[in-house]
Amino acid sequence: MLFRSAIGWLTILSLSLRTQLKDSKAAIALLSTINKALQLETRELAGQAHIDPLTGVLNRQGLRAALMNTSSLLTDPMAVIFIDIDHFKSINDTHGHDIGDEVLRKFASVIASGIRSSDRLVRWGGEEFLIICPMTNVYQGRILADNLRHSLHQQTWPAGLRVTASFGVSQHHERDEVGIAIKRADAELYRAKQGGRDRVCAYIPAEMIANADAA
Ligand code: GH3
Ligand code: MG
Ligand code: MG
Repeated sequence: MLFRSAIGWLTILSLSLRTQLKDSKAAIALLSTINKALQLETRELAGQAHIDPLTGVLNRQGLRAALMNTSSLLTDPMAVIFIDIDHFKSINDTHGHDIGDEVLRKFASVIASGIRSSDRLVRWGGEEFLIICPMTNVYQGRILADNLRHSLHQQTWPAGLRVTASFGVSQHHERDEVGIAIKRADAELYRAKQGGRDRVCAYIPAEMIANADAA
């Protein structure tokens, strides 16, 4: 009697173990499918995390990734152009946030179509954008910025608006951190705002002026 009940227990135990084993195999298979799906999704999310959803251009994280992954981006010389839309707050205040968003989308698309494919356009935040231009010195960067400024004048904007922007240009040197060129471009942008907006200011290092004079 005792022997039969022991056999009975063992059978039940082995059945239950087999079921658990099957379950765990199924669970492992399921986990692996989920992981695969998640990896795909993580990759997708990573892609999206680099793009500004409103304008479709790179965001700051996207710029960081591009600078880390694309060695050809960090050249010497490389121009940095900081752009800020003029009196954008009053566009929002007068015509509403949706028109403001429309202006931002159009602005990004006008700038994007005026730069080379090797340049990178970044939405820095709000109504501020940054362009990284490999193989471009500050003089060439200044010409590009002025062409972009003119192309803004030629557009038809939502609600019949006239949209202008101020530009600050600097040049990155291999010996420096990229942050230095960005700070200099930002300081030049501030000068452009102070000077009356709708203009380009550029940081020309003293040594470049001396070299140009000597040539
Ligand atoms: P300035 O010429 O000195 O640059 O003046 P400004 O009015 O352009 O600058 P300010 O910094 O005073 O205002 C920027 C405005 O941009 C305020 C903020 O509400 C608006 N803004 C920021 N992000 C967005 C956005 O994604 N959509 C819209 N519609 N507005 C935004
Ligand atoms: Mg601003
Ligand atoms: Mg502004």
